[in-house]
Amino acid sequence: MDITTLAVHAGERQAGGDFSTVSTPIHNSTTFFYPQFERLDRVAGGEEAGFMYSRYANPTVAALEQALLALETGGAPAGAVSFAYGSGMAAIHAAVLAAGLRQGDRVLCSTEVYGATTALLMNVVAPLGLQLDLARPTDPAAWQAALARRPRLVLVEAISNPLLRVLDLAAAVRDAHAAGAKLLVDATFASPILCRPLALGADYVVQSTTKFIAGHGDAMGGVVTAAETEAPALFALRKLAGGVLGPFEAWLTLRGLKTLPLRVERQCQSALRLARELERWPAIERVHYPGLPSHADHAIAAAQFQGRFGGVLSFELRGARREDVLAFMNRLRLCLGGTSLGDVQSLLLYPVMASHRDLSPAQRERTGIRENLVRLSVGLEDPADLLADLEQALAPAAPVANAAPVAATR
Ligand code: PLP
Repeated sequence: MDITTLAVHAGERQAGGDFSTVSTPIHNSTTFFYPQFERLDRVAGGEEAGFMYSRYANPTVAALEQALLALETGGAPAGAVSFAYGSGMAAIHAAVLAAGLRQGDRVLCSTEVYGATTALLMNVVAPLGLQLDLARPTDPAAWQAALARRPRLVLVEAISNPLLRVLDLAAAVRDAHAAGAKLLVDATFASPILCRPLALGADYVVQSTTKFIAGHGDAMGGVVTAAETEAPALFALRKLAGGVLGPFEAWLTLRGLKTLPLRVERQCQSALRLARELERWPAIERVHYPGLPSHADHAIAAAQFQGRFGGVLSFELRGARREDVLAFMNRLRLCLGGTSLGDVQSLLLYPVMASHRDLSPAQRERTGIRENLVRLSVGLEDPADLLADLEQALAPAAPVANAAPVAATR
């Protein structure tokens, strides 16, 4: 079945009995009971499927897990499992701990991942007695040198933030496995619509469902999808660490997920249109979007994502310093200044102020994150309206003395 059909139906109508509900209800109950105690005993012992306590499993959360599993596996879920957690970070934490690392093991993390992921590894995981290596996958020599140190786990993102570097996922799987490591792919920026890393051999795929999957800026969540053999560890981490997703958030996410393919399709189209336009504006120094031939990873993105390039782009305001960028953001009327992404609303983030705030200017310069860079997560608004908003916010800034007015040049 097509992913659009799966998104609408997968996980639904599990209620049983002589009726079913069109929409999965919010099972807002901590505890579940059965007419006969023997049955609860069998559920508790794992001899019969069922629900007992919502920290272990909850029917609404289970419906979301089935839906995500269907999307991550292209409708062929046999041999794989999905487990939901209270946030994307909780999902990453669970996946890292599920990898069965022992004291002294090495973990290799890409430098091109979400800052909190690196902070989690540095501040929470490494102190447990693990060796953390950081390297840039886009620097093949550095990456291979780090792999040669034989990590047990490698963490990467399918599309990086905020420069939208695209990883060759098949090669990442091959390299990690050749080094004897498991590979964790955070595919949040791509969503299951652009790629399905599990099919390429990744060991853990993480989605912060807070982003594209829920898509409406109203529900936190995270999901790990992995081979069935990982189920006991992923289940135990939820049950014992307790980072559960609430049934209401699961319901909102399941609701959002139904329109995921349509939303992402549209967001990709709009982002491409915006990127092409912005690239021609004199007030914009540079646009970073894998859909543009000028992007370093255009070819791999085109091959890997079947002609889609994602709903996020970033761009540099020509000659702008921090105060110019803030003034530009203050003038925006439609694009909201917000740290998230993947929502129906367009959200603009200033990495220097938010995601990369803790880096020194020199460190930022090395990673290519300049003071004039902003990231735009394109929502479902009409792209012409978004362009008009960007144009009116840019025009008064006129950071280059002799720049022609934007309107006259496009
Ligand atoms: N992974 C990526 C790529 C992210 O951008 C984020 C958050 O921005 C996370 C994980 C963490 O997700 P959450 O905020 O749901 O914990």
